[in-house]
Amino acid sequence: MGAPGAGKGTQASRIAARYDIPAISTGSIFRQNIAEGTPLGVKVKEIMDAGKLVSDEITDQIVADRLSQDDCASGWLLDGYPRNLHQVSALDEAGHQVDAVISLLVDEEDLIQRLLKRAEIEGRSDDNEDTIRTRMQVYTAETEPLLQTYAERGLLVEVDGEGEIDEVTERVVRELDAFLSGNRGELDA
Ligand code: ADP
Repeated sequence: MGAPGAGKGTQASRIAARYDIPAISTGSIFRQNIAEGTPLGVKVKEIMDAGKLVSDEITDQIVADRLSQDDCASGWLLDGYPRNLHQVSALDEAGHQVDAVISLLVDEEDLIQRLLKRAEIEGRSDDNEDTIRTRMQVYTAETEPLLQTYAERGLLVEVDGEGEIDEVTERVVRELDAFLSGNRGELDA
């Protein structure tokens, strides 16, 4: 988890590679559908460009389908999901157990600078100033509360997301390994 621009997508694929599991990004799935002009892409484009959340009905179904594929049998990493309390319940009810929730912490000014830079380089249509503001608001209102939900479940691993990409990856892997081995120790005891 992390605010827009925190580096979720970048770190997700690197972390997933380390643990040899697929990284599943709802944002990438939607963007790919938009690029291919699928019916789903047509449906979600306007919502995404406005910085709002795609409906839970659509998003939950996409994630449930993806997690039921063979390559997810021995683990997965979700990037951008769950994003509100409803999606947390949907994931629980689909019977998918979460081992850890990584929260990437980045200063808000840095976030905006990163997003504006990405807008120049990648040309993502949701990286303009108005949309960024909406995405930040949606994150604060709907997604940030999930950090507490997962903290109460004892699953939250907070990681400093500032600095070089490699540095952040190393930090995440180190803290995640420590967290997972700590939990395993408790189970064994
Ligand atoms: P970021 O977190 O940097 O804004 P993402 O690629 O994770 O980028 O998400 C981009 C957009 O895709 C969101 O603003 C939203 O419109 C849509 N989206 C992604 N994940 C979800 C989700 N779990 N539920 C609803 N909409 C989503």
